Amino acid sequence: MDLNLRNKVAIVTGGSKGIGLGIVRSLLAEGCRVINVNRSTEDGLRLEAEYAANGQECVFVQGDLTLVSACENAVQTALERFGQIDILVNNAGVNDGAGLAAGVDAFVTSLQRNLIHYYAMAHFATAALKASQGVIINIGSKVCDTGQGGTSGYAASKGAINGLTREWAVELADDGVRVNAVLPAETWTPLYERCLAEMPDPATARADIERLIPLGRRFTTIEEMADMVVFLASPRSSHTTGQIVYVDGGYTHLDRKCTAPDVSDFGAADAH
Ligand code: NAP
Repeated sequence: MDLNLRNKVAIVTGGSKGIGLGIVRSLLAEGCRVINVNRSTEDGLRLEAEYAANGQECVFVQGDLTLVSACENAVQTALERFGQIDILVNNAGVNDGAGLAAGVDAFVTSLQRNLIHYYAMAHFATAALKASQGVIINIGSKVCDTGQGGTSGYAASKGAINGLTREWAVELADDGVRVNAVLPAETWTPLYERCLAEMPDPATARADIERLIPLGRRFTTIEEMADMVVFLASPRSSHTTGQIVYVDGGYTHLDRKCTAPDVSDFGAADAH
């Protein structure tokens, strides 16, 4: 399927690792030009050179997205470099464990890490996205539906991201700008690897999680996340807006029985 994304300009936040890295690679493979906003200069420049050697254009913009100035700079750089923005992928975030005991300062810091830059990026890019009749894709988390415990700031941010997806879809509909969210549950990334590494037995912890994922009893890959994002970024999804799409192997919504082998299957109620 031709996604008609050739020469489109995309900004991806947190595109040097994990899901963001998968999204950047897929957008480049579809012929997009990409701005990758990330903290680590070493990673960003290495990837920029790697893509260039492959004939692909991915400009690294160094910045810590908790600073509003970094968000504004990323949008400005995209416009100076390419003159347009067609796609904004808000992806960077961290499940930072700011729970009820952590206090208000930690909660606000978590919102800055996970939520405020989603708004800031959209705010600074709005005029350009209206001009291109572009798209916004927000990466959320199933934590907004399920909770997790001990991570108030992250859960609040992810809940707000769903709300903003619908809000922006309404606000920008008359301008032809589409806004959707893609939600992972358990995607294998450096973030996830770091979380499990803190457990006493990471391999067992990983196997325990995989048992809970109905489709294939395995983590989602970054490529599977990216495939949904490029589809939603493309004109092939031209009448899809305000949607919250779960790419999670059925983790969030399917009947608990399908991952609990010890529970009897009572089936549907007898109609007689
Ligand atoms: P990851 O492996 O840690 O990658 C995140 C990338 O974003 C890294 O390159 C990181 O840069 C960058 N980043 C984070 N905060 C930043 C900031 N303030 N400024 C600039 N760059 C920043 O994470 P991931 O697992 O791919 O997660 C990506 C998104 O998916 C997040 O929104 C996360 O909440 C969501 N998600 C993931 C899962 C999962 O199973 N993996 C589940 C639910 C939701 P550094 O290299 O400098 O750290």
